[in-house]
Order: sequence, then structure tokens, then C-alpha cells
Amino acid sequence: CGIVGYIGHENAKEILLQGLEKLEYRGYDSSGIYLLNETGQGELFKEKGRIATLQSLIPTAASGTNGIGHTRWATHGKPSRENAHPHQSTNKRFTIVHNGVIENFSQLKQMYLSDGTFASTTDTEVIVQLLAKFVADGQDTKTAFKRVLSILKGSYALAMIDTATPELLYVAKNKSPLLIGVGKDFHVVASDAMAMIHVTDQFVELMDQEMVILQAEEMLIENQTGEVVERAAYTALLDA
Ligand code: GLU
Repeated sequence: CGIVGYIGHENAKEILLQGLEKLEYRGYDSSGIYLLNETGQGELFKEKGRIATLQSLIPTAASGTNGIGHTRWATHGKPSRENAHPHQSTNKRFTIVHNGVIENFSQLKQMYLSDGTFASTTDTEVIVQLLAKFVADGQDTKTAFKRVLSILKGSYALAMIDTATPELLYVAKNKSPLLIGVGKDFHVVASDAMAMIHVTDQFVELMDQEMVILQAEEMLIENQTGEVVERAAYTALLDA
């Protein structure tokens, strides 16, 4: 189980798939990727089983300059296509990958989403449906994302895409490992540096309860109280 992400000017597809292959050692029962192009068109591919199966589902022409990927080790909801990540809000505007466990997902469902419909039985889907709800209620995406994070209990490494802003990749972490990889004109996200060592060896560590907004050439890290955090990248010493 693990997550990957890419935002830049190249096609994210192969970078993400290679990243998922390198996360295979962590164990998984399903996998998926989501690709968003510069005009806000998104494509979702996910399946139970091996990454080779996922690969075979993805058309050669599929592309996006913003993308996220996931290998799942099911904790809530059986291994199936429906429960595989990425998960989307019902309106398909928001797409998320999550590694970890949301302990209070059923309380959150009851409290905020009692009239909602769900495509999966995962704890994860609650995160993305809550986000869509808070945005529908009038909050901007960043405010809504931070509000969701503030009410989650449990562990998460998250990457989220909003079709309204194809140039942004949202990231957050609490008690699950997560790193940002820095390239010349791109950023990547990974549970483990090894997953992205094929594109960069410069990584920025994240601390619990930090939220990050990535663009191809910019990185904004904020802590829980909204202060901007400056943190230098380190060089990962791994065999490529
Ligand atoms: N709890 C989530 C699920 O069961 C994520 C599991 C994982 O970290 O792979 O879908």
C-alpha cells in the first residue's frame, strides 16, 4: 500500500505506473491511477489484482500533466474494483488517493453525509465526499480541504486533485509516511523515495498534520495552524 503523484509538464502516466511498481514490495490487492490534463479532463483507471492488469486497461493515448496513483492494502471494504483507489466525489470534481485508516469515518458519514450516496465501502471515500460537500456549501477548495483534515481521526497520506485547478496537486499527511520529490519543473509525491528515484533524488520530508499545495514549479507547505513552513530538500541515496 502506498501513494504516488506527479504535477509538471510531461505525461504523468508512465512516471506513476513505474512508481506503483516500485511500491509493489509493500504488498497490495488492487491499484489505480487518475490523470488530469491541462483543460481539466480527467481519466480514472483502477482494478483489483496486479499492476500489470491495471496497465493493460490504460489506453496508450491516456495522458495528463497532473496525476495520482495508489496500491491498496484493504482495511475497510473488501478488495474489489469499487473499493480500489482513486476515489471520487459523486460529482467527479474531486479525486483522492489515501494510504492509512480513518478511524472516525462512520461518525463523519452519519454527521455530515447521511443523505449521501457512496460508490464504495471504504473509509477513504468519506474524505472526498466531505470535501465536495464543504465546497458545495460555499467554501473554496483549500479551506474545505483543511476543514476535512481537521476533523479526520486516524492515519493518512493523501493526494487530491480538483478538476477546477489542473495546475494544483493537494497533499496531506498524518502518521503515514509521505515525501515530496522536487524536480527542475515538476513535483512528485511518494510514500517512499524509492518509488520516485527514477525521476529525482531531491526529497522534502513532511511532518504530521502538514498540508501541501504543489504546482509544477512551486511548493507551499502549511502546518496545522496555517503557518507557512520552509524546508530544504535532502538528497536520497538509493540505487536507481
Ligand atoms: N483504508 C484504506 C482502504 O482500505 C486505505 C488502505 C491502504 O492504505 O492501502 O481503502
